[in-house]
Amino acid sequence: MKQTFLDHISNEKISVVEPLINKVIGFYRENLELVRTDDVQSTFAREIKDQEGKIVPLGKIQLTTKGNIEEGLVHELLHLALPLKTGLYTMEKTRQDPQNFFAVYNNMAEHDLILPDFLEMGYHLETFLAGGFTIDYKRESKEAMGWWIYEYIRNVITKNHLGSVGAKQSEKAIKDIRQYGVQFYPRLDNSFKTVYEWIKSRKKMEPKDHPQMMRALIVLLNLGTPGKYLAPDGDGALKEVSF
Ligand SMILES: [Zn+2]
Repeated sequence: MKQTFLDHISNEKISVVEPLINKVIGFYRENLELVRTDDVQSTFAREIKDQEGKIVPLGKIQLTTKGNIEEGLVHELLHLALPLKTGLYTMEKTRQDPQNFFAVYNNMAEHDLILPDFLEMGYHLETFLAGGFTIDYKRESKEAMGWWIYEYIRNVITKNHLGSVGAKQSEKAIKDIRQYGVQFYPRLDNSFKTVYEWIKSRKKMEPKDHPQMMRALIVLLNLGTPGKYLAPDGDGALKEVSF
């Protein structure tokens, strides 16, 4: 598997990416899969597997054949390795599932934690995320309130993960969401303020604070009762812990 990953890494980056690959292989061991996709976006999935009565991590990467292949691979490897730093192992689908809000929010929030490493390895901000999309918020007024909150959080967080062109688009989106969302649901004005405080409070956070920040979001958005979650328990193992 190591060589399969390395085959997509340019020579001058091998020395900085290899430790990350070693970390991922150390944690997932033989339970790693790499498949290709014609989508310009690469994605990852963290799943679990029952191995002789133990719950072990299973990592999958869908790597683009068309977009920024090397950057896409490094981005997804950083996601796969992140639970070792945060202690929060969430299961995400390869394709983001809008019904599974916790996983979607967690994915965006993880970007704050992996971007510094991506940049430190010498990759560029413009290649951190692939293929943005724009929404005409004026036409989306019939969406549920939760959708507006999701779009607001998505744009406020993601604005900092994009190059200057994408960041400008996000700024315009935030303005539109505030205007049209509040027109349709006046209560959103207050919700936007509350979630903005949550986003701001994450600025000084360390990776180990991530589970508690996500717990706060579950409570804030009524995404359910924060109960148990999985945390890495050394290499190749997971344990259940409480929030
Ligand atoms: Zn990502």
